[in-house]
Amino acid sequence: MFDIAVIGGGAAGLCSAITAKDTNPSLKIAVFEANSRVGKKLSVTGNGRCNITNKNITLQRYRSNNGSFFEFALNSYNLSKTEEFFDNLGVPFVFEGDKAFPAALQAASVVDALRFECDALGIELLTDAKIEKLEKTNGIFTLFCNGKKHSAKAVIAAFGGMAGLNKFGADSKNYNLLLNFGHSLIQTKPSIVQLKTEPQIVRQLKGIKVDCKVCAIYNGKTLQSDFGEVLFCDYGLSGPPILQLSHLYNTNKKLEISLDLASAYTHEQLFYICKNRQSTLTHRPAGEFFTGFLNKRVGQVILKLSGVNINDDISAIKYDNIKKSVSLIKDFKFIVTGTTGLQNAQVTSGGIDTKDFYPDTLESKKVSGIFAAGELLDVDGDCGGFNLQWAWSSGMLAAHSAVRFIKGDK
Ligand SMILES: Cc1cc2nc3c(=O)[nH]c(=O)nc-3n(C[C@H](O)[C@H](O)[C@H](O)COP(=O)(O)OP(=O)(O)OC[C@H]3O[C@@H](n4cnc5c(N)ncnc54)[C@H](O)[C@@H]3O)c2cc1C
Repeated sequence: MFDIAVIGGGAAGLCSAITAKDTNPSLKIAVFEANSRVGKKLSVTGNGRCNITNKNITLQRYRSNNGSFFEFALNSYNLSKTEEFFDNLGVPFVFEGDKAFPAALQAASVVDALRFECDALGIELLTDAKIEKLEKTNGIFTLFCNGKKHSAKAVIAAFGGMAGLNKFGADSKNYNLLLNFGHSLIQTKPSIVQLKTEPQIVRQLKGIKVDCKVCAIYNGKTLQSDFGEVLFCDYGLSGPPILQLSHLYNTNKKLEISLDLASAYTHEQLFYICKNRQSTLTHRPAGEFFTGFLNKRVGQVILKLSGVNINDDISAIKYDNIKKSVSLIKDFKFIVTGTTGLQNAQVTSGGIDTKDFYPDTLESKKVSGIFAAGELLDVDGDCGGFNLQWAWSSGMLAAHSAVRFIKGDK
């Protein structure tokens, strides 16, 4: 009989098991992990460097169908609590701008540190241990795993979401563990994901990266903007600012992405620059008009879209062609037709409805003794360490609540 059974040995599960055991070392705690090792997804986060949290954790960086459900957990278990937790594990943070990373800049070392701490505290880490069914009878939980039954007084559900489907242990059947107790599911959708667009233009630019301002536009209104490197792909657009804005497609199906390829200049300044180029670069063919100012291939596509015959002389470029080029450079627009799906997403938008959980304990309103943490809940954040912070904050809160539950003083 375990005091606390944690389902899922990912970021939230490992953090909650350590926090619970630290709080009450006499508790018998087990982590059940479906994969052959814990922290498989965590070990590839942040391109292998683990963007572990962010200096600026604000509520605006998170989304849920249930208002600011996440507020209590994030405020109570904030950056300094997270730094303290990881300092105790021998993992100090370094900052790049607002983004925090482990000093080793190695995601795998974060997993190692969590694993070593579990071993040192006597937490049982059971791998290749997928929980297939969860029941509660007479106040005790039964967890069904590999043909065996395990008992526990409390359960922390931390089995993650659907992002990275088929890669990291995600399985839509996991949600049944909670749905069977009467919880509901908010439809799952990909977030922090590449965007598909109409293919004609992006295909011509496949493989090119441009630094630019990116605006997500719906009904002519800019919803959000970001700066950074955008990658043209045969299916659409990728790169950090695209991933950052991608969640907007979940709520705005007619989303457009506009790239400002020369954000340092106004329309007028850019028009002046172009007129100047035309009078000074007379020796060039029209197709080389933007060479040196824009990526060569991007420049040629812009010229063609503006009606310029790239085999003409530069002098053949007309006033209207220049006007059109300037408009395209400042507002290179792509209609979003979809995303590359949950299998390529970093995070799940949607998940188990948080209305069925108390925000200040993360205990289920449907079944006492079940606590939830991490991505399985309908909470998702921006790119930049915000999702791992949710895993740490909710993991610590669920752990303290579960320990109090076992003690009998909720
Ligand atoms: C490529 C990639 C890069 C990312 N980079 C970052 C980043 O740099 N910063 C950031 O903040 N976020 C990042 N994220 C998001 C972040 O990894 C997740 O938000 C976070 O891991 C969620 O933690 P979790 O514990 O809820 O879920 P997970 O880490 O997914 O852990 C859930 C665990 O539960 C196990 N499990 C599932 N079902 C069962 C079951 N039935 N029984 C037993 N075990 C089960 C799974 O195998 C898994 O190990 C990234 C995601 C991806 C895919």
